[in-house]
Amino acid sequence: MSTQHEYSFFDAVLANFDKAAKFTNWDPGILEQIKLCNSVYRMHFPVKIGDKIEVIKAYRVQHSHHKTPCKGGIRFATTVNLDEVMALAALMTYKCAIVNVPFGGAKGGISIDPKKYTPYELEKITRRYTHELIKKNFIGPGTDVPAPDYGTGEREMSWILDTYTSMKPGEIDALGCVTGKPITQGGVRGRREATGLGVFYGLKEICSMPDLMEKAGLTVGVEGKRVIVQGLGNVGYHAAKFFREGGAKVIALAEYEGAIFNTNGLNEEEVRQHRKKEGTILNFPGATNITNTAEALELDCDILIPAALENVINGENAPRIKARIVGEAANGPLTPDADEIFIQKGILVVPDMYLNAGGVTVSYFEWLKNLSHVRYGRMEKRFTENQNRNILSQMEELTGKSVGDKEKEIIMHGPNEADLVYSGLEETMIGATREIVDTWKSNPDIPDLRTAAYVVAINKVGTSYEELGIFP
Ligand code: GLU
Repeated sequence: MSTQHEYSFFDAVLANFDKAAKFTNWDPGILEQIKLCNSVYRMHFPVKIGDKIEVIKAYRVQHSHHKTPCKGGIRFATTVNLDEVMALAALMTYKCAIVNVPFGGAKGGISIDPKKYTPYELEKITRRYTHELIKKNFIGPGTDVPAPDYGTGEREMSWILDTYTSMKPGEIDALGCVTGKPITQGGVRGRREATGLGVFYGLKEICSMPDLMEKAGLTVGVEGKRVIVQGLGNVGYHAAKFFREGGAKVIALAEYEGAIFNTNGLNEEEVRQHRKKEGTILNFPGATNITNTAEALELDCDILIPAALENVINGENAPRIKARIVGEAANGPLTPDADEIFIQKGILVVPDMYLNAGGVTVSYFEWLKNLSHVRYGRMEKRFTENQNRNILSQMEELTGKSVGDKEKEIIMHGPNEADLVYSGLEETMIGATREIVDTWKSNPDIPDLRTAAYVVAINKVGTSYEELGIFP
């Protein structure tokens, strides 16, 4: 899979798993079954690009079937390889277990540079990939449900949906074959910002814990924290947005062409507009340029959020990191070497497999919406508002006092879809944070939050196997 000198992402996941397995009591056979990938599908297919035929290499890995359907995104990037897809599929299993989303983990990838193709060519590639998945029963609302990941978004999910529904006419739950769709195609409000919002909710909960903050040498709360975000894609953009709105200062933003820095804080939307117009993040008014983008990770800050790709903080640069908290919005941004160094330095690492679980959590809400064929809030919004109006007018009548118009509006408001998705996500992230932190505190030998998160995940998946038994 990889030579000794190359970094293997899947080996890193296995190493983290083994580190945590020591703190559990499962039969070695169960542990082996949990950590390996159940089904691996590597495919080649031809696509006509211009007047040439290109052979495209792609993958779908189903890591675990302890719960079905399997779930996980599809990545379009030249860096996609089998090792990476296997690692990401495994992380999906643990992620889903931690946030109590009843799916097994999966991941897909197409080894292409999406920037090199026209939208029409990308559509052809996506449709052909979906077709390959259908042929091998690797997609379907009850078997395996893809979603966006690095290099894909709502547009690609629509193409997947359309290919699936054309091949499966009359399948009543077909909308649930993919998540991360546009709202007009069965998507759910809040999915686009879900991962970044989940990162914010998770770190906000961590920042509200006085003992953890004292250890990190920080004050309690998000307000005033100096944050650096690496990657201004969907996840990084929304993480930056929610931190800024929550009162933190985003002092640096990094992209692959460079980074910018301003101690007074940056507005992610203005930076995005600037990048769109100028073709680079550099030269943003009022900010200092950092031409070597990797150096942005090493600036002094309270919270560092890597939100792009894996392996960006490793044994080489970890000793120079000055952040007090590292929140992994990307999958696998830290290598096991970096973890060891951060334990020594007392830097708190908030691990990917739960911190970025907001995406799959809201994907779960979208899938439920698709299976129930009704928008969240549609049945109860008006009813709740009428009920609140009645209670309010009774109160006014009994007290002889009247409530102001603005307050009335707030009290009467019945939940719409976005309200319910946001509150479901917040509840999920808070619950998961507390469970992992409690597990960490329950055993002084557990070295870090990542190991605690793995312990939580292994115990949940192990319980599934134990209760279901081994077939036949
Ligand atoms: N690709 C995202 C992840 O890594 C989302 C997966 C999903 O929604 O199924 O978590």
